[in-house]
Amino acid sequence: MYLVLLGPPGSGKGTQAERLKEQLRLPHVASGDLFRENIGNETELGLLAKGYMDRGQLVPDDVTIAMVRERLQQPDCDDGVILDGFPRTLAQALALDKMLAGTGRALAGVLYINLPDEETVRRLSGRWICGQCQTPYHAVFSPPAEEGVCDECGGELYQRDDDRPETVRARLIVYHEQTAPLIDYYRRARLLVEVDGAGDIEAVSAALLEATRNLMK
Ligand code: ADP
Ligand code: ADP
Ligand code: ZN
Repeated sequence: MYLVLLGPPGSGKGTQAERLKEQLRLPHVASGDLFRENIGNETELGLLAKGYMDRGQLVPDDVTIAMVRERLQQPDCDDGVILDGFPRTLAQALALDKMLAGTGRALAGVLYINLPDEETVRRLSGRWICGQCQTPYHAVFSPPAEEGVCDECGGELYQRDDDRPETVRARLIVYHEQTAPLIDYYRRARLLVEVDGAGDIEAVSAALLEATRNLMK
């Protein structure tokens, strides 16, 4: 089952992907995490991506597509995957269709988490991420048991540079210009399922699980 989580920055894609991953037993593939891994390992790709990420802009399609293609070729992706943060442009969506079709697969659905801009800013300004396993937390909405420490793995939590309000504003502009058109693209393809992202984590999680159950019918 190949699923895409679509939504503005801070809408809860990472949070919900971690839950869906347990429920559906599928790997969680997040393009942002792949870029941050490359930055951490100081690869050439990481160096290139960092410049764009720091400005809140998208990394160019060709390198992004190549990186995700390579990830999807790993054997753990054979039965399906939860894509988070990819595709983010029409060119990426077309490339994904092609990648899957090339091996006789297709998207089962696109889960669109809708959230107003004001709320994304509140979410991102309080976001803390585990440096080891990437689990997201929120200072108020989803705090770890012990301040600064990951519940899942004991890793140290940090705040992303690009979650600063100025960069978040740039990311939202990019989202509306380049990513939001995918909502219509997938709606036309009859793959889109919209979920209200404004509820608490449990409510959004229940709505997404029900949406995926309907897709499996
Ligand atoms: P968020 O959690 O806010 O949705 P991500 O971790 O998915 O953010 O992405 C962080 C940054 O990584 C983006 O602002 C962008 O610079 C880059 N990035 C991630 N995914 C993509 C993509 N599919 N295409 C281009 N750039 C991407
Ligand atoms: P995305 O991957 O879409 O950028 P995240 O899953 O990282 O979003 O969530 C952004 C921030 O909002 C995190 O700090 C997370 O703990 C918090 N968060 C996620 N879902 C909710 C929710 N339903 N209600 C309140 N806070 C949430
Ligand atoms: Zn962790």
